[in-house]
Amino acid sequence: MPATISRLLMCFGVLIGSVIVYLLVLISFDHWWRYETGWINAGVASCLTFAGGWSLVWRGAVRWTTRRIFLTLILLPCGLIPAGAFFLIGGFVIPNNDTGFGVFLGTLAWITTWLIGTAILWRENAKERGERLRQLGIHAVACPDCGYNLTGLREARCPECGAAYTLDQLYATITEQRAELGGE
Ligand SMILES: [Zn+2]
Repeated sequence: MPATISRLLMCFGVLIGSVIVYLLVLISFDHWWRYETGWINAGVASCLTFAGGWSLVWRGAVRWTTRRIFLTLILLPCGLIPAGAFFLIGGFVIPNNDTGFGVFLGTLAWITTWLIGTAILWRENAKERGERLRQLGIHAVACPDCGYNLTGLREARCPECGAAYTLDQLYATITEQRAELGGE
């Protein structure tokens, strides 16, 4: 099975696992529908399960620099800001005096923040892409704007971001990249 497909299936597994954890923790509390304690515990358990599973699935695909690890750890508490906002919306703005629903919305907001945050933080940047391709022995021509690999194209226009270049501009980029990577 290709790595991408098995990763997609594992992502789906993490999602299902988090929902199961959520429900199990929630109903383990007596009268869970009445007090927010169950909702809070279920939310925290489910968020941690999701973040942990997500990190395990993508661990091998992410280049773990100190900066990335640091920002990923910061992302954990940062998710509480949108979570808090949605808690207030669900618990108080919607007039049913149900803070449990607010906690539920907050949990969804935290997970959404984590997804968006990791998608941005864990993405390979243009320089890393160039380095990786160089290690593979591929002398890539990368788009100077977005880092998309232009190898094999018949025109000097990036299909990813649409930027067009002259051949001398691309050549200058390659020379620059090589110098940056320690020369050839
Ligand atoms: Zn581009």
